[in-house]
Amino acid sequence: MSPFPREDYRELKRYHFDRTPVALDLSDNTNQWGTHPAALEVLRRADDDALARYPDLYADNLRAAAAARAGVAEECIATGCGSDDVLDCTYRASGGGSGDFVSIAAPTFSMATPLARMNGMRARLTPWAEALDDPERLLSGDPALVYVCRPNNPTGHVAPRAWIDALLDAAGENGPLVLLDEAYVDFGGDPLATHAAEHPRLLVSRTLSKAFGLAGLRVGYAVAAPPTVLEVEKARGPYKVGRLSAQAGAAALADEEGWVSRTVAECVANRARAEETLAARGLEPLPSSANFILFRAPSGDGPRDALAIRARGVAVRPFPGDMPDGGDALRLTVAPWPLVERFFEALDAYTAER
Ligand SMILES: *Cc1c(COP(=O)(O)O)cnc(C)c1O
Repeated sequence: MSPFPREDYRELKRYHFDRTPVALDLSDNTNQWGTHPAALEVLRRADDDALARYPDLYADNLRAAAAARAGVAEECIATGCGSDDVLDCTYRASGGGSGDFVSIAAPTFSMATPLARMNGMRARLTPWAEALDDPERLLSGDPALVYVCRPNNPTGHVAPRAWIDALLDAAGENGPLVLLDEAYVDFGGDPLATHAAEHPRLLVSRTLSKAFGLAGLRVGYAVAAPPTVLEVEKARGPYKVGRLSAQAGAAALADEEGWVSRTVAECVANRARAEETLAARGLEPLPSSANFILFRAPSGDGPRDALAIRARGVAVRPFPGDMPDGGDALRLTVAPWPLVERFFEALDAYTAER
């Protein structure tokens, strides 16, 4: 008899964090400026038989829009149901045999490790300081895949371009694929999509959940050389992105009215202002190239601080142990300034009472 579930699956947990309602949620890096208007327009205009038929096998219209946005050919794009799906399929195409592992520069995106387990692999975490010191550390022991987030969630830093090149050189033509997660690239850092289209060992993943304000739509894509795209699409299967999701996502990617550039510019300005305001309180914000800021938990106990600030109406996310010196951190999603002010009011009320 084969037991259910499979042995290496048992310790996996369902994704969970506090979702009890809060007046202002600045904890998950979604777009605080709202939903992309071009996507909303597509959804409003859906006609009577918009959903009776299956969508395109591989979302050709979305693919074309992503290719135009990234500046690459359509054969260099794979789409997915959120970039989590793109990551999942990339993991699945990379490994799964016993002993396979994904090499991860950490701390990073919370799904990087569980996705390895889901796909029958282990995760090996290398602290960012060590990885930045020598990229070859990520390659030791022959990983099935290397995961690097750039700009990195939750620290906000951008691994230098020369470091990425050194990592790719060390991986060589026959080494593991390097999965570069560019979920936040619209907010800072140099995009490497055109490089990925030509490189046999680089795949860049992107999402419409952040700068494009479409987290509820679940659309993401990958940019890679055509042979890599083919393998990822095999792991993905057909009909993944819904018909309206593909249409709305394509309209947002075209961004004809410049909604993304406008809101991103405001976000970047508010990020600088919030960094200064945190620094003035001695909270050591890490310089960020994304739409969030990681800073020191005021009491040293991140989960406790997050709960206390939440009790005052604003959710931020705790990251225990993720300050560079191992101290607890909190992560704030950057928002329109009146919302950021509400966060500072809650923070100040809490720290005044302590
Ligand atoms: C939010 C986020 C994603 C987005 O995933 P989707 O499935 O596209 O919503 C991917 N990677 C990182 C690092 C993120 O923070």
